[in-house]
Amino acid sequence: MKILVTGGAGFIGSAVVRHAIAKGHSIVNLDSLTYAACIDNVASISGSPNYAFEQVDIRDRPALDAVFSTHAPDVVMHLAAESHVDRSIDGPGAFIETNITGTYNMLEAARAFWAANARPDSFRFHHISTDEVYGSLGETGQFTESTPYAPNSPYSASKAASDHLVRAWYETYNLPIVMTNCSNNYGPFHFPEKLVPVIILNALAGKPLPIYGNGANVRDWLYVEDHADALLTVLENGALGRTYNIGGENEATNLDIVKMICAILDKKHPGTAPYAEQITFVADRPGHDLRYAIDPSRIRDELGWRPSVTLQQGLEKTVDWYLANEPWWRALQSRDGVGKRLGKTV
Ligand code: NAD
Repeated sequence: MKILVTGGAGFIGSAVVRHAIAKGHSIVNLDSLTYAACIDNVASISGSPNYAFEQVDIRDRPALDAVFSTHAPDVVMHLAAESHVDRSIDGPGAFIETNITGTYNMLEAARAFWAANARPDSFRFHHISTDEVYGSLGETGQFTESTPYAPNSPYSASKAASDHLVRAWYETYNLPIVMTNCSNNYGPFHFPEKLVPVIILNALAGKPLPIYGNGANVRDWLYVEDHADALLTVLENGALGRTYNIGGENEATNLDIVKMICAILDKKHPGTAPYAEQITFVADRPGHDLRYAIDPSRIRDELGWRPSVTLQQGLEKTVDWYLANEPWWRALQSRDGVGKRLGKTV
């Protein structure tokens, strides 16, 4: 298949691009290269004859039409988004423009292209979203695909809005869509403003390891390469118009995650004292959801997909990757906002 991937220079999008090329697909990577992008994330495949890059903003509809007409993709995987909750608290406008208006532009450009090409049944618009649209769980329960939406942050509200648009384009215009909502990702090439890389890099630098609130917030952690594999599985075999939740079957509190990373670093890169001594509790994020957990039975039972690594295995691979790739993360640490506490204001 020729896949148009949006956001393919970001964390998850680049994993999708690398995985899809390895599986023999052709890729058109459309990305505007915001602060969160790193084109080196796809350096390993960028010389492939099956790869093309377009620096385009999804807020620019005419530019999207030109990409569709130049490349004539068989399917679309839409990942481009503003993705950091803390930045959405400080500056929600970019999240509304990219995540909502940008998704609307993508839907309209895809629909125009699909209609102009005899509406092939095989066309797919795969919208990649988050479990954060479902809001916060208490101590028990799991999100299913029919859990009502209740987003709590500007980020999750903008993603929820984009999900509603995608669903409406299926119901109203019969645009062939699939959707996925997945849990927190971690792994190689994770931008150094998110929890897992912040903890690894602050530990190595001898800096405090900041934990929001009391660290009791629970997330279901998914290794990014497993996510990329799940996305390709849904694209290839998912039922039309259907949503699939993707989880890692790995619930852990933020404090658990930080302690696990510290213990791995103590083994692989020992310091003068245990890294856990650097843990520091800081003011909580406003509207911080307590718990997310995914019921993965639909993707497991209908498509036979399960994650391949445990949380311990995935974190070990991640720590190994950061230890081996210092030039990659050093270059990103000077980008705007990295290393600063964001999203504290109410
Ligand atoms: P990311 O921030 O690492 O990458 C986003 C990419 O989109 C960047 O390369 C950026 O340049 C590009 N982009 C942003 N605005 C754009 C615009 N206006 N036009 C074109 N390109 C633009 O994000 P990520 O963590 O890789 O997330 C990818 C997708 O997966 C997002 O839709 C996100 O909501 C979703 N998601 C992420 C997670 C997670 O844990 N990271 C979990 C569930 C779902």
